[in-house]
Amino acid sequence: MEIPFHKIDITEEDISAVAETMRGGWLTMGPKTFEFERTFASFLECDDAVAVSSCTAALHLALAAEDIGPGDEVIIPVTTFVATSEAVLYTGAKPVFADVLTSDHTIDPEHVKQLITPKTRAIIAVHYSGNPARMEELLQVAREHSLILIEDAAHAFPASYNGRTLGTIGDYGCFSFYATKTITTGEGGMIVSPYTEKLERIRSLRLHGISKSAWNRYAKGGKARYDVYENGYKYNMTDTAAALGLSQLKRCGSSLQKRRKIAEHYESFFSKSSLLIPYEICSENMSAHHLYPLRLNIELLDLDIDIFADKLMERGIATSLHFIPFYEFTYYQTSLKKEDYPGAQWIYERCISLPIYPAMNSEQISYTADAVMDICNKYKKTMPGRLTNEK
Ligand SMILES: *Cc1c(COP(=O)(O)O)cnc(C)c1O
Repeated sequence: MEIPFHKIDITEEDISAVAETMRGGWLTMGPKTFEFERTFASFLECDDAVAVSSCTAALHLALAAEDIGPGDEVIIPVTTFVATSEAVLYTGAKPVFADVLTSDHTIDPEHVKQLITPKTRAIIAVHYSGNPARMEELLQVAREHSLILIEDAAHAFPASYNGRTLGTIGDYGCFSFYATKTITTGEGGMIVSPYTEKLERIRSLRLHGISKSAWNRYAKGGKARYDVYENGYKYNMTDTAAALGLSQLKRCGSSLQKRRKIAEHYESFFSKSSLLIPYEICSENMSAHHLYPLRLNIELLDLDIDIFADKLMERGIATSLHFIPFYEFTYYQTSLKKEDYPGAQWIYERCISLPIYPAMNSEQISYTADAVMDICNKYKKTMPGRLTNEK
């Protein structure tokens, strides 16, 4: 059996929606983008949202809207996708890396506190796999030190904590519609914030810093004359992408339900085994289940995570790593010490992501789960007198 790590979920309805927009003759940012913004905001139960070309762009614009730049520091988790750090570097500010919690892989608020200096301006928390970072503690730290709290919600749509949708709890929420994310526009992102004026600035910054009404300067009735308020970026979404996003949004609830079922199915296989360590989710959460983190109890196994991934691959099952910590990368190595990140290292040595997407059927889920248990049992360390009845 071949089980890819991800399979994009594109329906005929999605294709028709994009085709219809293309036939309409308006390709770049326009009415579909604005409709997507309004609809997305209503899903999050917030007032407004600004569509952009990626989550990386959204993160960059959140920082830019706060005039964060050279001389400033932004605290981010050491275990995240490189985009979180990249966005900070775009502004000229310095990313400062905090360790992550071994329970759920989100940024450790205690370590964040230790890293705050007079230069710190913001914290970016990542809702790993669709589960909330410790928002209450982080908000408190942010308020105490007058820091901006940005939610990297690339994994977290749709998800909530204590009934509040993720992305709307901090000062900014940044979403991704990359091909592998829970809804896709091919490439795309969205930014939300409770601050109306900041969102208006972001609206201008995403399209060259030009005046709000100038997006349609080539259209009939559009104004040829426009003003530039400040130096902006080319970060707008296209209407063809937005048409796909609108069509995908209609299924976000049912596809979440399918991912949740898969997670529960995996859980039913894995929860009883001491060879695996459960990923801890608190009961107030509604996770987006973007990833399924599988954690091996490597102390009891005679293989490492790379060999484990190879063994799954031999059986046709593709996995992925979320994420390689920054201290492993050439570009970041010189400034970071692995010893400072015991939490991230613990995760890095134990965790891989299993396939979890709506197109998986129960046969594929069981096949994957069986393979995991079978490999674990084959490589179980022999320890006389201990754990002899492992299932
Ligand atoms: C995917 C991802 C991003 C970047 O999203 P793009 O839309 O591809 O720019 C940022 N942060 C995290 C945690 C991600 O997984």
